[in-house]
Amino acid sequence: MPIVPARPSVLHTFGFLKTRENSMIASPLRHDTDMGFTLIELMTVVVIIAILLAVAVATFMSTTASANAAACKYNQRSLNEGIAVMTSDADAPAIAAVEDVRPYVKNFNTVSKCPSDGTPLQLDAGAHSVICPNHP
Ligand SMILES: [Zn+2]
Repeated sequence: MPIVPARPSVLHTFGFLKTRENSMIASPLRHDTDMGFTLIELMTVVVIIAILLAVAVATFMSTTASANAAACKYNQRSLNEGIAVMTSDADAPAIAAVEDVRPYVKNFNTVSKCPSDGTPLQLDAGAHSVICPNHP
């Protein structure tokens, strides 16, 4: 029977991968000298990196959301202080919209919007404070 050389396996298509023939020859203790990685080893590393990235991105998104909520609370407090000053001013007109507080609040264009998506803050029903639809 003629000796047929082993056909290259699918793993031969990647130069950096360990060939199947070398894997079968190598000892289970991996004292072989070839420096390749098997496809399973590479896939394991890729999966681990993907899991770590998913955790990191989720943490980053949560941190951003809590920072926006805190900034929105600060904006609401600034506008509420402006409303308090305005209501104590005898010459000030009645408050009908958030826009009326503009002369009493510094940086009104920035403070009057929710930092999450730029939604304008709204007066509550009694017009004594400002609320945010995103952060009640
Ligand atoms: Zn908000």
